[in-house]
Amino acid sequence: MEQLTIFKGRVIDGNGGAPIEKGIVAVSGNRIQLVCREDEFDVPENAKVIEIQNGTVMPGFIDQHVHIGMGSINHKSLYSMHPYEKVCYAIRNLSDLLNAGFTTVRDCGGVSNHLKNALATGLIEGPRVFSAGRTITQTNGHFDQIKSFPIEFNEKGNILAYIADGVPEVRKAARMNLREGADFLKCMLSAGVVSQSNNLETQEFADEEIKAMVEEANKIGTYVAAHSISNKAVKAAVRCGVKSIEHAYFLQEDDLEGIIKNDHWVIPTLAITEMFMINIRNKTNPNNKLSPWLIQKMPPAYERQEASVRMARAAGVKVGFGTDLVGDADICPFGENGREFGLLVRRGGYTPMETITMATKFGSEVVMNPDLGTLEKGKLADIVVVKGDPVADIDLLANKDNIRIVMKDGVVKKNMEG
Ligand SMILES: [Zn+2]
Repeated sequence: MEQLTIFKGRVIDGNGGAPIEKGIVAVSGNRIQLVCREDEFDVPENAKVIEIQNGTVMPGFIDQHVHIGMGSINHKSLYSMHPYEKVCYAIRNLSDLLNAGFTTVRDCGGVSNHLKNALATGLIEGPRVFSAGRTITQTNGHFDQIKSFPIEFNEKGNILAYIADGVPEVRKAARMNLREGADFLKCMLSAGVVSQSNNLETQEFADEEIKAMVEEANKIGTYVAAHSISNKAVKAAVRCGVKSIEHAYFLQEDDLEGIIKNDHWVIPTLAITEMFMINIRNKTNPNNKLSPWLIQKMPPAYERQEASVRMARAAGVKVGFGTDLVGDADICPFGENGREFGLLVRRGGYTPMETITMATKFGSEVVMNPDLGTLEKGKLADIVVVKGDPVADIDLLANKDNIRIVMKDGVVKKNMEG
C-alpha cells in the first residue's frame, strides 16, 4: 500500500455535523482513505503524520461564481486589454485562489476554459476549474458592456462574451461554448451594475431564447446559470428551466415556491457587492475603476440583497457560496474569496457551519462532481488546514495567511507549517 499521509487534529468533514475534536484524515495517493477519531485508528509506522496543533482540517473550498482572467473591473479594459494579458491575469488569479484554500472554482465567464490542459499537466498551478467559457448575452445586454462604443468593438475586444440574438444565434453560441469544452452555460438575463445601463429592472433575452440555451445544455447533461439581478430575470429563470440563479438581489416571496419545487440554486454573491460598497461609502475610487453607473446602481441593489438572502434561507432554498470576484487588484482581488463566509453569516443569517457546508458539500453539487466537497473515504483528497477554529471565528477563513496547508488531488500545494 502507498504511504499514508495523516492529518491529525480537529476535523470538519463538510457534511454539517459537529467537528471531530481529535480526528484523523488519512490520505493514500489522491484519495481519502479514512476519516475517524484518533482513538479509532492505529497509525502505521511508515505514515507521514501532520500534527495540527491549533487548527482545523477541512475539505478544499469551492467558489461557485468567479471570473478568471478579466484582470480589471474597469469596463473599458474588457475591450482594450489584449487576450494574452488576460491570460497572464488568469494564471495569477488561479494561484491566488489555491493559496486561499479554494481547490475548485466555477468560472461564470472567463478564460479558464482554455487553461484546463495547462492545469492538468502542471504547467500552471490552480484550482480545479468548472467553466462556462464565454457568457452569452443579447445585443444591448449586460455583457454588451458599453453601449456608447460601436457594436463592432465586441467582435475583437470582448473575448468574454458571445453576443447572440434569436433562437438560432443563441443555440450557435451555446454550441460554440460546448465545443470549446465548457462544463455549463452562463447567460445574462438582466442588466448588471458593471455594465452601462441605468435600468436594473428589465429582462434580457426572450423566453424562447432562454429555453433554447437550457435545451442545448440539458441535451449534454449540464445546465444553465443565469445572471439574474432583476426580479423579472429571476422569474424568467424559473419559468425557462435555468438551474442556477446568480445574484437574485430582488427576490420576492412569490418566487420561492417555484425555486424550491424545481430545485433551483441561488448564488447570492455577497463579497463583490461588499467590496464595491466599501469604496462607494468611503468615496474612494482607486485608479478610477468604478464607473459612474456602478456608483449609482450599486447602493439600492445592495440594500435589497440582504433581505433576498434571508428570504431564501428561511424558505429552505439551496443557496450557494459564490464571490463574483474578478481579481482586480484595487477592488476585488482573488485571495480574499473567504470573505464570503463571514458575509453569509452577518448578512444572510447563516451559522458558520452552514456557510462551510455551502462552500464544500453543496459546492460539489454545483460543479457536478460528487467526488469533491466532503472528507469521506474514497473521495478526492482536496484538503485545507486552517489556523484556529472557523466555527468559533468564521472570519479566520477570510485571511489567506490563516490557510496553512492546501492539498489538491493528494498533492500538497501550500505548506506554511514548515
Ligand atoms: Zn459574475
